Amino acid sequence: MSAILLIDDDHRMIVRLKERLDVRLGAASAVATVIWEPSDRDQNGRARFEGLVRDHAVKLVVTDFDLTRQGMSGLFGATIVDWCQQALIPVADFSRALEKGLPEEPNLFEMRISADTEIAAGQIASIYSGFKQVYDGLKAARAIEGFKSFRSPAAALAAILKGTTDESPFALYATRYGGANSMLLDRLKRALSPDTAPNEEEKNLVLAYICGHLLLNAVLRFPGPIIHHEALGAYCGINPAAGAELADMFAACEYEGPFQEMGSFFWFDCVQDLLQEHAERLQIKTESETVGEFNRKVVEQVLKRQLLTHDCPRCAGKNGGFWCPLTHKTVCMLSSCSVASTSWVPRGAQLCRIERVFYDEWAPILGA
Ligand SMILES: [Zn+2]
Repeated sequence: MSAILLIDDDHRMIVRLKERLDVRLGAASAVATVIWEPSDRDQNGRARFEGLVRDHAVKLVVTDFDLTRQGMSGLFGATIVDWCQQALIPVADFSRALEKGLPEEPNLFEMRISADTEIAAGQIASIYSGFKQVYDGLKAARAIEGFKSFRSPAAALAAILKGTTDESPFALYATRYGGANSMLLDRLKRALSPDTAPNEEEKNLVLAYICGHLLLNAVLRFPGPIIHHEALGAYCGINPAAGAELADMFAACEYEGPFQEMGSFFWFDCVQDLLQEHAERLQIKTESETVGEFNRKVVEQVLKRQLLTHDCPRCAGKNGGFWCPLTHKTVCMLSSCSVASTSWVPRGAQLCRIERVFYDEWAPILGA
């Protein structure tokens, strides 16, 4: 039996989270939830952590950032995150006091979950099962006759999600795996090399770790081949908040796969095809309109009603077509409205553009 390790020095909080999570996982689940409340009785925090990981076969760690309440000085969430990354165990932390407005430094190998216990429980269950699905998917892909090796994590992701060898939609998300730690880079090199002795288990472990994060923290977060309903709304030239109203219309395009419970997601190529089909059927012309304007016309005619406009002051809500991952707003191609992806957005995220005002404000400070 494997386990999810919950770390927090706030007793009331951690017990409540465990309760909620156990309900989510269900009595029949093959995963246990283990609690650790670090205190000065632990003496050696790292030894205690490693003991727990080993004894319970921990597959996912969830930690609070501040762990000093019970007197264990010097132990912070960041340290736990570090230990987990070195051991290739996925780790999530609570985004308790996230500064709104400031773009987060994207760390591929760290997951943020809600500070709301109920929401967090759902997210933890989804993350756990998502990584398991990725792991199982890789195993299944390897078992297919004629399989030699995955060329890259992007290729592995394409194999699990689409059953294809075409890695191109995901390749442009793939960067800097070694950034987390050099040990990961070493293990990755060995795992991908067709020359080394095939230690299937080790290869699967490393690839599942990378692919899971790549999917959750890059592909699903920065809309490209798979888009969430806010981005769907933006693409259809309406308010992102109204994107959920399009879910039924695009039900056939729904993404069903690892981490699907983290939101509602759609395959972008399917969305494009469906819009095209409707447009042809309704004989909607493409002349002199932006992509957002055109798409809005299509969805409003299909749904036979007007949808909530987006509040872009540059085009008075007329254009749209793109989504800003930092302000979560619908933006358009106008140079006064947004700028093309910068170093803040993965190159594969074709639906993402950074809202101009935000960009101009932060780029000189953060570098772009
Ligand atoms: Zn605009």
